[in-house]
Amino acid sequence: MTRPTEKYRYQEILWGERAQARVRAGRVGIFGVGGTGAAHAQILARAGVGYLRLVDRDIVDALDLHRTQLFDERDAAEPVPKAEAAARRLAEINGDVNAEAVVAFANADNISELAAGLDVLVDCSDNFRLRFLLNDVAVKVGRPLVYQGAEGGRGAAMAVVPGVGPCLRCLLPSLADVDDAGSCARVGVSPAVVAATAALGAGLTFALLRGEGDAVAGRLSRLEDPGPVVTIGVKRLEDCPACGRREFVFLEGRAPVYVGRCCGGRAFEIFPGGGVRPNLDEMAGRLARRFLVKKSHGLLLIAVGDVTAVMFGDGRALLYGARDEADARAVYDRLAARE
Ligand SMILES: [Zn+2]
Repeated sequence: MTRPTEKYRYQEILWGERAQARVRAGRVGIFGVGGTGAAHAQILARAGVGYLRLVDRDIVDALDLHRTQLFDERDAAEPVPKAEAAARRLAEINGDVNAEAVVAFANADNISELAAGLDVLVDCSDNFRLRFLLNDVAVKVGRPLVYQGAEGGRGAAMAVVPGVGPCLRCLLPSLADVDDAGSCARVGVSPAVVAATAALGAGLTFALLRGEGDAVAGRLSRLEDPGPVVTIGVKRLEDCPACGRREFVFLEGRAPVYVGRCCGGRAFEIFPGGGVRPNLDEMAGRLARRFLVKKSHGLLLIAVGDVTAVMFGDGRALLYGARDEADARAVYDRLAARE
């Protein structure tokens, strides 16, 4: 085998030419391009992983910059969607890598399409609803998944290798076992822990790309700052709802109208579901008569009193400055309603 470049020589020395070729040919999906997602993506891109699909629903916020390695103040000022900012930066870091930005809210309707054609799915999300959805799709189609999460001074990472080891719901059977509503807003998060957790997760992704899934399946690594990394074995739950009974309720559920806090608790997010896709050009023309409207990177920013609404092409909205959920819904309804 001839080497196309000397760039990756130190990796070849470490794990061999054949393994490096598999890493170069790898296709990986990063779901959530926040602190852990950006760091994970950067490690993979520098190592020459051939294709990265970056899926994220949010825009870069100044609050992200303390822990996200790919973003800068320019990205927060524009503002630019996280997936696009990350893809732009990764292209500058390593031209060998094809980084595709997908600005979307991953849900039951689109997750199968978003996960298609990938060798490894990487969960870098900030909520367990998406984690369990990714776990469902991974187990159902037999695709490896890397789970990683960080909050406060703690992080964790585990590889799910369907058919070999436990899945995420063997570890946490239901949403009742987790509590992640605005957790970073509540307890904060350490940038060092975010980077360390992403490094643990990226190590698992490399192992899976090299074909070493059997060696890493079912090993949960936890770290605390300061403190050692502790790795424990997780057993398959015989009656696991996902990998045992094969009930994929997150994958098969219809996406409901969703209103919740996101972006570190600073915004309310509204997702109408039902395939509602507004025409943002029409909306901009209509609303510009009454509000201050700005277009940026395919988004619409609208100032409505104390509230700033960010409208996405898939119908979602982020509402910064809303007092509560009812206030957020009311502003959204005002913007969406045609006179
Ligand atoms: Zn399971």
